[in-house]
Amino acid sequence: MKTYQIATIPGDGIGKEVVPAGRQVLEALAAGSSRFNFAFEDFDWGGDYYRRHGVMMPADGLDALRDKDAILFGSAGDPDIPDHITLWGLRLKICQGFDQYANVRPTRILPGIDGPLKRCAPQDLNWVIVRENSEGEYSGVGGRVHQGHPIEAATDVSMMTRVGVERILRFAFKLAQSRPRKQLTVITKSNAQRHAMVMWDEVAVQVASEFPDVKWDKELVDAATARMVNRPATLDTIVATNLHADILSDLAAALAGSLGIAPTGNIDPERRFPSMFEPIHGSAFDIMGKGLANPIGTFWSVVMLLEHLGETDAAQQLMRAIESATATPSLHTRDLGGTATTADVTQAVCRILAAGQ
Ligand code: ATP
Ligand code: MG
Repeated sequence: MKTYQIATIPGDGIGKEVVPAGRQVLEALAAGSSRFNFAFEDFDWGGDYYRRHGVMMPADGLDALRDKDAILFGSAGDPDIPDHITLWGLRLKICQGFDQYANVRPTRILPGIDGPLKRCAPQDLNWVIVRENSEGEYSGVGGRVHQGHPIEAATDVSMMTRVGVERILRFAFKLAQSRPRKQLTVITKSNAQRHAMVMWDEVAVQVASEFPDVKWDKELVDAATARMVNRPATLDTIVATNLHADILSDLAAALAGSLGIAPTGNIDPERRFPSMFEPIHGSAFDIMGKGLANPIGTFWSVVMLLEHLGETDAAQQLMRAIESATATPSLHTRDLGGTATTADVTQAVCRILAAGQ
């Protein structure tokens, strides 16, 4: 029997509710399996840790995670701590420290969920957005001078390396190739951003030559938002920069019905380090502690975690349980227009798993 070492980092806000729910689901799967088990280690990093220690995570935090098979993360964000501290002090530290350069965000309309696109059949919206996760607009390069003076100036430099662009595009082409439609849309803004974005376009042509069976096209990011709404069925796999894909994937999550159901994997494709899985929503302090958080985004992230571990059967079993929960209106949380609680949905999914369906 294989025992997977899983780190759980609930973080802040509703992360503290949805990560324990994700762990319960993993435990339910392990209870029904003779193949695998999970050993969990929980890390109390985040806003409360910052208030006690002045840092979001300890200096040797990455070492504590290094030998894990995967990380299940909640969210980092606290109304009393500036966003750049919560984000850079925890989530980005892990993403960058472990070179999780591919951020993968599947989006589709699950059974029973009513998206805002009335003209769109559920099968018309089935995307995977690949977000460059290590550089670009969020590389941290820049500076601020003359603070508080009339001549104050600040820059955020979007740094793109050829190596970084090439590896994310290769990852995206490979992913597109593994999906039935074998189709990739490369998104840039190369009409207005004349340097790095033009390099993206050039590298795309070069990498595409390695994947002759993948049909691909280019789209500007502004046009892409309209296309997602007006012609969703023309898209399949999508790759974009750190900032562009951040925005596009929130749009995608909203089009699929709720921010609360959307999952993410922060992947190190070379498997030198553990990858990290998390719902795309944030800490949502407005609904914290009330049992209103939809745990489906975390459960779907657990599906991605299982796929990453190679436990495909368990991943499929959990995805079927999620779909059976979303297809049941009495199991919809408030963000989906229902009255179910986090615990209701979690218990229902665990029951479905225990029944071995
Ligand atoms: P952060 O600053 O950490 O990003 P946030 O306050 O911006 O957090 P988000 O989590 O990004 O909040 O989500 C925006 C809103 O969507 C929340 O205020 C909340 O009402 C709703 N929401 C987000 N996630 C969920 C969820 N899992 N279940 C129900 N509602 C959610
Ligand atoms: Mg937010």
